[in-house]
Amino acid sequence: MSSYGPTTGGSYRVCDTVVIVCLACASSLIVLTVAVCFRRAIANGYAAAAVGASGGAGAAAASGRDRCGLAPSALSAIPMLAYRRGAAAGAGWAQCAICLAVVRDGETVRLLPACGHLFHVECIDLWLRSHATCPLCRRDVGEAAAAAEKV
Ligand SMILES: [Zn+2]
Ligand SMILES: [Zn+2]
Repeated sequence: MSSYGPTTGGSYRVCDTVVIVCLACASSLIVLTVAVCFRRAIANGYAAAAVGASGGAGAAAASGRDRCGLAPSALSAIPMLAYRRGAAAGAGWAQCAICLAVVRDGETVRLLPACGHLFHVECIDLWLRSHATCPLCRRDVGEAAAAAEKV
């Protein structure tokens, strides 16, 4: 009788230890899984935020048409003429807003069809290689030039 009890108790104690170890393992596994899931969720959140930010920047860059210049064909479609003082309506003289010099008689200028502003051909060509707008009034030169090309 006296040897039966301790055996039962011993076996019970072993079982108890196994259960505790199993529970500890399971709980640590659960904690680990939750931690990994949490980290993933945070990482995904950051990734989504980063994608949103870069997408916004991309959209902004795409909408910023000012950055890309005119195509050579559109550039050559802008009318080029020899400036004659007094020939331009209502103006005795003209100033190139790019180099800020007065346009002299006989100098070759480009007249932007969108707004009627004129600039030295070398000044405006340089500008329109990296911009598609009038440097003075910001009107879209590219669309007007394309329309003029069609006509
Ligand atoms: Zn100029
Ligand atoms: Zn203009």
